[in-house]
Amino acid sequence: MAQAVLSVVVPLYNEEQVLPELLRRLQQSVLTLPVREVEILLVSDGSVDGTNAIVRRVVAGDNRFQGILFARNFGHQAAVSIGIERSRGDYVAIIDGDLQDPPEEIGRLLEIVGREADVAYGVRRRRKEHWAKRMAYASFYRILGRIADIEIPLDAGDFCCMRRCVVDAMLQLPERNRFVRGLRAWVGFRQRAVPYARESRSAGQPKYTLRKLLRLARDGFFGFSTVPVAMMQVLGFVVSMMACLIAAGYFVWFFLDRDSFPSGFATVTVSIWLLGGIQLLFLGLIGEYLVRTFDESRARPVAIVAEHLRHPQVS
Ligand code: UDP
Ligand code: MG
Repeated sequence: MAQAVLSVVVPLYNEEQVLPELLRRLQQSVLTLPVREVEILLVSDGSVDGTNAIVRRVVAGDNRFQGILFARNFGHQAAVSIGIERSRGDYVAIIDGDLQDPPEEIGRLLEIVGREADVAYGVRRRRKEHWAKRMAYASFYRILGRIADIEIPLDAGDFCCMRRCVVDAMLQLPERNRFVRGLRAWVGFRQRAVPYARESRSAGQPKYTLRKLLRLARDGFFGFSTVPVAMMQVLGFVVSMMACLIAAGYFVWFFLDRDSFPSGFATVTVSIWLLGGIQLLFLGLIGEYLVRTFDESRARPVAIVAEHLRHPQVS
């Protein structure tokens, strides 16, 4: 461990209010860990506030910091992905920039990875967030857990420390829609869950809008599960069988008792709407996979890096 290089990846999107405190706490915790070298990669995901200026200032004054500035906002998962792609450490840690993941815990994760694991990831013991958000998160992870092709740990975010072998394996996965915690579980190796208390955001507003959260949830569902398609086939089969039964029923009725046979507008209307709805719903599900195939086949980069800032004395 004393010979190891540790990289810490921090995604930042308009975090000028938190950044000074974050840097102070990183300096006190991560930069005092007993390793040979620490590099901290501050990935600014198209920030438009003072974040980039602070990043420039820190990098100019301390050779342990690097700044990666995106050309626009590409999203948290893109920031994390580019961060680990550009990291060089034997160990790589990922931590949110809003101090919800305590930097002091990185030492503990690193120690566990050094001793007995290839990945140590944080599992939130409790969330200090609005109950509705907590409930939404809890149900998302439980549904995903049930339908995903692989085991994705419950209530784990991106907060973790990994060995280089895990990072290299993740970097081999070519997908663009990167659900980092899913990819991390997918590669395997020795994974350890480490419970920790997730703080509430130290300052500023959450940078995940509802839209970004839904996008993340969809990347998780559709990137790691084909269950929706299977569901679609089963339901399609059931509905078709029902239609056959109903048709047979009408047929028999028609021959047995022609006089009472209904003219049946209601039945027709209801079935048209019902079947139309089901078809649209499932066409949407097929479309989702199709769009993803299209998106992946374009093979665009995950994000565009405008600048990679390094201290003048580092090559
Ligand atoms: N973030 C980012 N790009 C985005 C949104 C968020 O890099 O488009 C960063 C943000 O600065 C923070 C981390 O991702 O460091 C987690 O975001 P946030 O705290 O808003 O998410 P939440 O904790 O609400 O899930
Ligand atoms: Mg947060």
